[in-house]
Amino acid sequence: FTPGTMLVQPSALVKGLADSLPSNVTLYENTAITEVEYGDKVVLKHDLGQITADKLILANNAFGQRFGFSQLKRTMLPVFLYASMTRPLTPSEQAELGGKDFWGVIPSDPFGSTVRRTHDNRILMRNSFSFNPNGKPKPHCLERFISKHQRSFDNRFPMLPDVNFEYTWSGSLALSQNHKGFFGQLAPNVYGALCCNGLGI
Ligand SMILES: Cc1cc2nc3c(=O)[nH]c(=O)nc-3n(C[C@H](O)[C@H](O)[C@H](O)COP(=O)(O)OP(=O)(O)OC[C@H]3O[C@@H](n4cnc5c(N)ncnc54)[C@H](O)[C@@H]3O)c2cc1C
Repeated sequence: FTPGTMLVQPSALVKGLADSLPSNVTLYENTAITEVEYGDKVVLKHDLGQITADKLILANNAFGQRFGFSQLKRTMLPVFLYASMTRPLTPSEQAELGGKDFWGVIPSDPFGSTVRRTHDNRILMRNSFSFNPNGKPKPHCLERFISKHQRSFDNRFPMLPDVNFEYTWSGSLALSQNHKGFFGQLAPNVYGALCCNGLGI
């Protein structure tokens, strides 16, 4: 429990920020950068063309290691975390569960579980991780961890015996050995804000 903090719905936050950008900002989604030329201008290449920028702020977490900066090489451990979310609880299941109707807990131990009750009365269980050196997801891990999430759920919520998960997903993040992120200049016109250590915004 950290006093003065608040719980946000991350998808709503990200979409809300994207919808609130000032008119002089253009957002390119689904535009994977595959090559960069550094110099007076930074040229970012993608499948359909290129983007030229005066300044670059690299904020792509573990993937930042692959953008050609020796000071970032081997500083970040690329891992994936896994989460599952149940179907909405029925009114009688909500009564069995009791307590507040909306809450979230995050673990002080990084290998613990994040657990949330959402506004539409689903329970979210987040635990387990994998090492993904190439930055790509591992589908077999997703399969394996659904049953682990179910076990965690059953242990913690024995009053909800018939609740199954409706969604399971994974997401990438970066860890460093000393728990510090990278924040600062990488080259002329290039800055980095990288290696989240799972600490969110
Ligand atoms: C399952 C899961 C649960 C989590 N739960 C919590 C929680 O409860 N609370 C909390 O505070 N934090 C949580 N986190 C951690 C939080 O999500 C991260 O710390 C946060 O998203 C890091 O933000 P970021 O912007 O630094 O990096 P990211 O969110 O990782 O964003 C990096 C972006 O760079 C993009 N990118 C990478 N390479 C390229 C490329 N070549 N070209 C273009 N784009 C590229 C990626 O597509 C991605 O959109 C969780 C993470 C996961 C995976």
